[in-house]
Amino acid sequence: MSRPHTRSLVSLALAAAALLAGAPLPAAEHPIVIVIHGGAGVIERAHMTAEREASYRAGLGAALDAGFAVLERGGSSLDAVAAAVRTREDDPQFNAGRGAVLNHDGICELDAAIMDGTGPRAGAVAGVHHVKNPIELARLVMDKSPHVLLAGQGAEEFALSQGVTLVPESYFITPERVRELEEAKRTAAESAPTTPLPLRPRGMGTVGAVALDAQGHLAAATSTGGITNKLYGRIGDTPVIGAGTYASESCAVSGTGQGEFFMRQVVAYDICAMMQYQHLPLARAVDLMIHDKLRRTGGEGGVIALDRDGNFAMDFNSAGMHRGVRNSAGRREIAMYRDAN
Ligand code: ASP
Repeated sequence: MSRPHTRSLVSLALAAAALLAGAPLPAAEHPIVIVIHGGAGVIERAHMTAEREASYRAGLGAALDAGFAVLERGGSSLDAVAAAVRTREDDPQFNAGRGAVLNHDGICELDAAIMDGTGPRAGAVAGVHHVKNPIELARLVMDKSPHVLLAGQGAEEFALSQGVTLVPESYFITPERVRELEEAKRTAAESAPTTPLPLRPRGMGTVGAVALDAQGHLAAATSTGGITNKLYGRIGDTPVIGAGTYASESCAVSGTGQGEFFMRQVVAYDICAMMQYQHLPLARAVDLMIHDKLRRTGGEGGVIALDRDGNFAMDFNSAGMHRGVRNSAGRREIAMYRDAN
């Protein structure tokens, strides 16, 4: 028996023993990967200043590194996606937590979801007005309640019972979002009032993450303020498991774009289903969804997606999508525009 063969038999036996003992496999056995998005839409060089671009890139980099740091120290994909998303909920540039877009009445109604591909388990919140970090509350719904989705006042009462930080509505509101709402109302008033036009994402910046940890587990998380000038009570795709957020043992997806289209087509789940039932590779399933199924109905947006082997996709049919990936092979990339930058 040759030496390399002996070594691989020994490592196989050690891995099997570790599995039997319930111990995690050595990190080298699995790639670790985190992929993030920071919203899709009209993200074009012509509309961007150098300072703004640098600031978005710094924000995306911070989210990526916060999540990757969790994976690097052997943490779970669930903790990694929560950490990545949470950092941008505190950043007023992004449409999540502070700085989220405003509804028609000029307040923020926040949606968030988190899903653990192992189990699977999921938690989500919708239409909360006072929860500083909605992704934290979504996690608590998953971990500490028998439910998957809590909305509105009931979600906030649950937040109170869990000791989650609550803030006044004014905490979330920024002058930029007030300006965007005024502009959206002006545009809506000028357009034909007879046909309800689909609301297009304005004021980009929904935040999402998918991750694969050293144990080979996948997770997904998404947090958003939804769409500017939405009606009071509107809930988007983000907290709807399978529409804007989904994770299984073999696939994790977080979406961004016009939520109504993502809900009608159950985008995140459909990508995972195409992989599972049609045995399509991840990139092909994502491509079909974004450039064929979604586009055919007029839906605009994109997704980040990851499979259990560490293959990932960051694809969109809008002008741009804030996005980034970091993995244990040394890759670290951040991009915003249609091209690879
Ligand atoms: N998908 C989000 C929603 O419709 C918005 C976005 O991603 O920009 O609520």
